[in-house]
Amino acid sequence: MPMPSFDALIIGAGPNGLAAAHRLQSAGRKVLLLEAGVPGGGAAACVPLAEGFAPQPLAHLSLNLDPRVAHGVELARHGLRWAAPDLATTALSPTGGHLRLDGPAGAALQGAVSEADRAAWAALRARLMRFAAVLTPLRQMPPPRLARGAGNPMLKLAMVGLKARMMGKAEFRELLRMFLTNVHDALNDELTDPLLKGALAFDATLGTWLAPRSPNSLLLWLDRLSGGVGGVQGAIGLPAGGMGALASTMVAAVQAKGVSLRSNARVARVLVEGDRAAGVVLDSGEEIRAPLVVSSLSPKATLLGLVGSRHLDAGLITRARHLKARGGAAKLHLALRGLPDFRGADPKTRLVIAPSEEAVERAFNPVKYGQVPEAPVMEIILPSAFEPGHAPAGQHVLSAIVQYAPHAPKDPEVARAVLLEASLRQLEAHAPGLRSLILKADMLMPYDIEARWGLPGGNWHGGELSVEQMLFLRPLPGLAQYATPVEGLWLASVGCHPGGGISGSAGWNAAGAIMGVGK
Ligand SMILES: Cc1cc2nc3c(=O)[nH]c(=O)nc-3n(C[C@H](O)[C@H](O)[C@H](O)COP(=O)(O)OP(=O)(O)OC[C@H]3O[C@@H](n4cnc5c(N)ncnc54)[C@H](O)[C@@H]3O)c2cc1C
Repeated sequence: MPMPSFDALIIGAGPNGLAAAHRLQSAGRKVLLLEAGVPGGGAAACVPLAEGFAPQPLAHLSLNLDPRVAHGVELARHGLRWAAPDLATTALSPTGGHLRLDGPAGAALQGAVSEADRAAWAALRARLMRFAAVLTPLRQMPPPRLARGAGNPMLKLAMVGLKARMMGKAEFRELLRMFLTNVHDALNDELTDPLLKGALAFDATLGTWLAPRSPNSLLLWLDRLSGGVGGVQGAIGLPAGGMGALASTMVAAVQAKGVSLRSNARVARVLVEGDRAAGVVLDSGEEIRAPLVVSSLSPKATLLGLVGSRHLDAGLITRARHLKARGGAAKLHLALRGLPDFRGADPKTRLVIAPSEEAVERAFNPVKYGQVPEAPVMEIILPSAFEPGHAPAGQHVLSAIVQYAPHAPKDPEVARAVLLEASLRQLEAHAPGLRSLILKADMLMPYDIEARWGLPGGNWHGGELSVEQMLFLRPLPGLAQYATPVEGLWLASVGCHPGGGISGSAGWNAAGAIMGVGK
């Protein structure tokens, strides 16, 4: 039977591929989505854990689901519900003196913190949220070109600048200072409580190749706070059924829109004829033709792996090779025979082990040299404490993002074992007896993540999110508007503006750019 013809091929069914597919199909294009594995939502899709336990996703919480995607794809109509739409955080103390941060970005602080720190955090939080809100519109537009030209969203950028300036001279000056400062200085200028500073420093640097003292790290904190869930800035959500349910809801919505999906269809290369994309060739050798090809694989993987030096100029190939993509986050899954007790902490909160801001910095130091930290910091959730279905009755799942992990250690097997042991030691110190509950432990290192999901270096953002790889410099100058020098080939991944998370923003923006429309 002859293959039906398609207007557009999308490579990769992660959140960005799905968002791009939905938007293009809604605009009347006939779209085929090609996924190397099972189209389950990329890194929100699940990997098996243990017999009787639900498979677990790499990305375990919703941090910055793009409201345009949530509404456009009609996730609620397709069944998305929340187990916790605005999750509280517990900053764990090994002695039980925990702090609890409720509300978006820790609006309400409970625990033994001085009045001075309490007031200082309220003021700092308000300022950070105000500054982060200035960045929010930037997530929802392609970065402006430095060159002049029709359709350039430079005017929108000017509006963002104007809004920032309208905060008043002193605030505007403070905003500029904050853009250039680091998390360590910002925290230590204002706060004294080690546990509070530890939890904040952990959040500020989560998923980046930066630690609190790294230059410009505060900008990444603002970037994180510019996102949110359900239209609430700074909120973190846990979908009912976990992130895997969010992923499968997205897949169902895309299918309902009429997008064709193919599983086990690994794209080996983009077919280029003259200087135009003409389709793709699968691993199996099968050729699929279409005039539009949209890659939701990282720019590095797309340009170097799928297109290659035959079709791109040497300068671009060199710049793509130099794109920085070091992943520093590992993922730990534990199948447990019972609920661990983190010294009385509420298991229906996000649990953070980061005893001080310095502890976060110290966990980063060895990783720079390919080594494993002795005392990793981590974010833990117990999805089975929120709702049944994740584990057999009475048993539990622990899901943790462990920072930092080396992306290219000398001996990957040894590094995995050493980081697992260090993480279990940390967990045991905070929840005595936890080790005896373990039925199965899985540690996914950055190189495992690269192999399984194709994120280069296992990096959260498919390419580091850092000042020199942001906005119109992301992924590279000249490629920031999602188009490539190969006509008909577009980039739509997390490696593009605005970067990472299960947001769908880059895919949505890219589809808009392809159709020549904005938001
Ligand atoms: C340890 C870790 C924890 C994280 N936790 C969170 C979290 O809690 N919350 C959050 O919001 N974000 C989290 N992230 C970030 C998030 O997972 C990514 O930013 C996001 O998945 C990127 O979306 P994407 O659609 O661009 O790519 P992906 O989700 O990586 O999807 C790409 C898809 O392409 C497919 N593919 C790869 N190669 C090919 C090929 N050759 N042909 C066809 N298909 C192919 C892959 O199988 C995959 O399905 C985490 C990242 C890491 C590393």
